[in-house]
Amino acid sequence: MHELRIATDLAEMVGRYASEAGWKAVERVNVTFGQFIQVVPDLLESAFREAARGTVTADAELVIEIVPAEMRCMHCGAPYMPAGDLHACQSCGSEEIELIHGKELFIKSIEGG
Ligand SMILES: [Zn+2]
Repeated sequence: MHELRIATDLAEMVGRYASEAGWKAVERVNVTFGQFIQVVPDLLESAFREAARGTVTADAELVIEIVPAEMRCMHCGAPYMPAGDLHACQSCGSEEIELIHGKELFIKSIEGG
């Protein structure tokens, strides 16, 4: 379950940020995940609760935004959303493709004080 590792890193980063900012409590953490990261929001949420327990982040609300995957064909240039496990270009069938969105994993913003 990779949610546990992500949540632990997340709680650590947020905690560090909050202590550098001199905050007493973190109220909200907005995170963005690409669809291909395949996090289960509920699992991430509960792992985050566990990791943040007893810290300034303990009561923070975790807001998870999932960015849909988007690819671009390097052959014909068409952008498209991959359907299921079929990643080849939907216009020309080329398999020379690049991922534009889908592997994001970052903290968008942290609110607190
Ligand atoms: Zn194409």
